[in-house]
Amino acid sequence: MTLALPKFCEGFIVPRRAFEPAYMETYRSGRIWEKVEIAREMLKRCRVCPRNCDVNRWQGELGTCASGRYAEVASYFPHFGEEDCLRGWRGSGTIFFTHCNLKCVFCLPPDALVATEQGLQAIKDIFAMGEDEQIWHGGFVRFLDGRVRVFVREGHLAPVTKAFKHFFAGKLVRLKPYNCPPLLLTSNHEVFVSHPSEPHRFFKVRADGVEKGHYLVVPKRTLGGEEVVLDVAALLETLEGQARASVWRRHLGEELAELFALSRTSQELASLTGYHPAHLRKLRGQWRKGLLVVTNGRASSNIVREDGRVRIKGEHRPGIPAQIPLDERLARLLGIYCAEGHVTFNKHRRNAARLVFSFGHKEISLARRTAHLLKELFGVEPKKRWRQTTVTVEVGKTSLALFFAALCGRNAKEKRVPAALLKVKPDIALAFLQGLVEGDGCDRGDHYAVSTVSESLAMGLFELGLRLGTLPSFFRWQPSPTKELEGRTVRQSPLFFVKFAKDARRRTKWKDAGAYFLVPVHKVEWLPYEGWVYNLEVGDPDHSYLAPFVAVANCQNFDISRMGIGGRPVTPEELADIMLYLQDLGCHNINFVTPEHVVPQIMEAIPIAIEKGLRLPIVYNTSAYDSLESLQLMEGIVDIYMPDFKYWDAAKAKRYLKAEDYPEVARQTIKEMHRQVGDLVFDENGLALRGLLVRHLIMPGALDDTREILRWIATELGTNTYVNLMDQYHPAGLVSKDRYPEINRRITAEEYERALADAREFGLWRLDYRWRRFVALW
Ligand code: SF4
Repeated sequence: MTLALPKFCEGFIVPRRAFEPAYMETYRSGRIWEKVEIAREMLKRCRVCPRNCDVNRWQGELGTCASGRYAEVASYFPHFGEEDCLRGWRGSGTIFFTHCNLKCVFCLPPDALVATEQGLQAIKDIFAMGEDEQIWHGGFVRFLDGRVRVFVREGHLAPVTKAFKHFFAGKLVRLKPYNCPPLLLTSNHEVFVSHPSEPHRFFKVRADGVEKGHYLVVPKRTLGGEEVVLDVAALLETLEGQARASVWRRHLGEELAELFALSRTSQELASLTGYHPAHLRKLRGQWRKGLLVVTNGRASSNIVREDGRVRIKGEHRPGIPAQIPLDERLARLLGIYCAEGHVTFNKHRRNAARLVFSFGHKEISLARRTAHLLKELFGVEPKKRWRQTTVTVEVGKTSLALFFAALCGRNAKEKRVPAALLKVKPDIALAFLQGLVEGDGCDRGDHYAVSTVSESLAMGLFELGLRLGTLPSFFRWQPSPTKELEGRTVRQSPLFFVKFAKDARRRTKWKDAGAYFLVPVHKVEWLPYEGWVYNLEVGDPDHSYLAPFVAVANCQNFDISRMGIGGRPVTPEELADIMLYLQDLGCHNINFVTPEHVVPQIMEAIPIAIEKGLRLPIVYNTSAYDSLESLQLMEGIVDIYMPDFKYWDAAKAKRYLKAEDYPEVARQTIKEMHRQVGDLVFDENGLALRGLLVRHLIMPGALDDTREILRWIATELGTNTYVNLMDQYHPAGLVSKDRYPEINRRITAEEYERALADAREFGLWRLDYRWRRFVALW
């Protein structure tokens, strides 16, 4: 794949075949071993960064950065958020370090459910709803600004302000409480518990400190108690396209590229993406050749509204009512559908869907009731068919079939409790449970039990039970993978059981603590995991949310990040292996992020990596608060320097960076970087190979600093310097309306325009192209 080369690249292109990373010559000449010796000596009286702590890190002493003998790696992965000339189409092989590079604590795997106002939602979907993604201490943050509200420990709703995502390799803690579904989280994430000796006093402990017998806190919640009228057209819009395509394409090309870079099998990726494995193999082939282009597959509206009814384009009139009250009859029918129904699509007529209920031969009366309810509520004439093992009730009406699919899912594995049921009165929710029990449940004397192959339906039923004031019981049963049925071998899925006690006061292990159920921990296990993990920051003094029923601590990301928790010390050999791993994934470069405090450790690892086959350019991605000694050590090693020049004014640097000498240090170090590598050059595909790329994050109310920085770049480094003026500042961390109120806002469009005008005025013309999407070329 070739990136489009804008005109400002002309004259700055080096043929790829003529390029070799700077470290190869240093290695061949043998100077690299002298550098390794110097690096080791530097650790013995650390002056690696301008803090000049003078401590013996070789012996384990710690200075300001709290980083010792070995570098601590927070995470490493192909990163697609850097400038296009670095990320290319296979990502920049980014390595984040802890300590000086502050580290966040993250907790839940992508599919972990969170209790929200709209029902249970996967934490990865909440993250996806955020905007303005930014790099945040070894991971990513997106800003939600309250567009999702979640339940907190005290049972009320609170807005989510931020969502975090981070790559994690290690072990997750699996907490299995009695009755409740299990909870998976990283060991350092805190959970609300109480001790049996004092069950009503809650405190927070790390997940790896939770013990068998501790009570977990499950807050009680209630149903909305509203009269709900369903807007059928809005519901069908959520499914638009499904009548034509059996797979909902949730993943864009960029996300797929990230997934492919993780070296997972197509089968594993299929379960993550919803694509068929064969289709993924085809896409992976395109990705390898740099040809991957995937759209989200949504089509324009296909819904016709007329005379108070709704139908799908091409479907016979009349459609179904445009507004349908969610009353006891409909709730009961939805319950029966969750137990016995599914939707099929006609292979030859892409727009034709069919609603089918399948009953056993002994369930004739339920089949009759179902047909009667369909006729009464929707005015349709269902057909009853007698088959060898079943009796079916079928309606060949696409709009009706899609209505059920949108509310409850299309087939047995996709089934779920309709989100609207959480808003209704208890009688209506009970009618839904009644329909479900009639279909897939049984009366066991003191309780009703429902079984399903859909985990999502089981979780929804548990949630519904809680909203009805009872604590259901949740079990998962794994049968043997296959069984013989009428001479055929059939596969078996895990089965989920949810039990509802007829007497809500009947309990076994748990306690009722007024506003909470206290549920004892039955088992604590450790499971290996490698992949993304997520967390939320919730705007509530309680600092908690429910995942999905048990109260866990809110991220409080910034406070924890300052403690530098979560990194893993790596030896030089391990750091070299990480570089090779990223090279094997196809990354275009090795990108060390804020490595100022681990320069000696990087130096030790480089020759090991070279001998094992490293041949990618090295990117040194820094705040520009480096020591000259460190940079001189990196001469002949680094190909691309990427400093972020933050502030020009010493008073601002003192206030916001706690380093009054920052501007002076940054000027010296950026000049040294430019001396070493010169202006940024690309290969013929638009990928950066060598040179200086200066970043500047425009800060609110600091345009004077921006102007002076741009003037200095143009006059001291030259107008050919490649500059990325960044507009994505977002208040975070300690910034609030009480502390640092002057920077507690985004920058305005006018401020950004002013900064661009300044750049032009000083003759800077190689500006990162991304801003050109928003601003006209001059
Ligand atoms: S890297 Fe900097 S902060 Fe860390 S110990 Fe050395 S001089 Fe101090």
